[in-house]
Amino acid sequence: MLNNSLKKDIRTCYENLREQLDNFIPRKAQNYLVAELAKTLAGEYNAKRQIFVAEAGTGIGKSMAYLLGSIPFAVNNNKKVVISTATVALQEQLINKDLPLFNRIYPREFSFILAKGRQRYCCAEKLAALAGVNEGDNIVEQQVLFEEKPKRDDIVLAGDMYSALSRGKWDGDRDSWPKTIPDTIWRAIVSDKHTCHNGLASHRNCPFAKSREHLDKADVIVANHSLLMADLELGGGIILPEPDQAIYMIDEAHHLPSVARDFSAASASLLGAAAWLEKLNQSGSKIANTADIKRSGRFLDSLQSSIQELIPGLRQVRDQLSELPLNDDGAFRFKDGELPESLHLASKDLQKAAKKAQQSQAKIHDLISERLKDGEISARLADPVLAESAFFLQRLENLEKVWTLMAQPNADKGRR
Ligand code: SF4
Repeated sequence: MLNNSLKKDIRTCYENLREQLDNFIPRKAQNYLVAELAKTLAGEYNAKRQIFVAEAGTGIGKSMAYLLGSIPFAVNNNKKVVISTATVALQEQLINKDLPLFNRIYPREFSFILAKGRQRYCCAEKLAALAGVNEGDNIVEQQVLFEEKPKRDDIVLAGDMYSALSRGKWDGDRDSWPKTIPDTIWRAIVSDKHTCHNGLASHRNCPFAKSREHLDKADVIVANHSLLMADLELGGGIILPEPDQAIYMIDEAHHLPSVARDFSAASASLLGAAAWLEKLNQSGSKIANTADIKRSGRFLDSLQSSIQELIPGLRQVRDQLSELPLNDDGAFRFKDGELPESLHLASKDLQKAAKKAQQSQAKIHDLISERLKDGEISARLADPVLAESAFFLQRLENLEKVWTLMAQPNADKGRR
């Protein structure tokens, strides 16, 4: 049941809102939305399943309605509100207008923050290397970070960013740098989980880690559907608050199915994958040597034998497909998602080989990171190899996902 203190909080907010806005117009639909949402959250309809779906036209004040209906309940019950949107425009409206206004009308303290993915933050270590500020950094190391030779202006910009970051004048968020950061520079300095050595003491000033600390303390978190899906795919509570502790407000929810579908889907080119696997086969020994071949040798053997299964397997699938009829849209489509038996069997083999290759590469990658952490090898030696290893690791993870989905039993696929 909605308790009296909560009802009073919501009423006070509403009265304050009326006073704050010169041209406030009471709207019946907005009031109805607030009341139904608050009653749902309080368990008046179902104590175990507090799900509420509402559709409302433009101009009824939906966002203010869900702030009114959810924030007092969350603050009273030690929960967090996660608002997920599809568009940047709505995120900006919430962060710059609606939530500051709600802060003025709500008599209790609460904080809010915009949550962003790792790719919006720079890696302080990569930035330092690019700016050439660490002892021993040189143009060769800078070139490893850049896909092509950096221009003088790029190095100057990296120096300015590094200086602002070190003096606390910039938080490492791409969107808060006063000018657009060119993609070539951003790709060289972006935070990336595969090249991240967050266990090292010198990484305490990591912009991404700091953003996560702020996020942990906030009461209301504005995110987008992709970040919400990314968190749920990791099991929940990794990027955003623990699901048990969160009240999810999914705005612009009509975009959610396509985002959810994209998150559950995977794609890879058959011949493209065979080509980069050849490259990995050639680079494997060099990467495993950096991990110390005595420790990494068995993983290298396992990686190379998996690659020897994957490359012909992928080519065989291509040959199998070339004998099947193409759909009008240029795709091979299978009724109810049921693959022909031969393709299903090939998918299972590819899934096993891709998993083995991914696990072996991940072990080699971890061994290099450990050696770096233990001071057995320098960052100058490890970083370029880790970057190369991360490149292949990401592709292997994706390849495994593709063939895991393809190898699902036919009856399961048909139900999707
Ligand atoms: S913790 Fe990871 S992302 Fe952060 S500065 Fe260090 S290496 Fe870069």
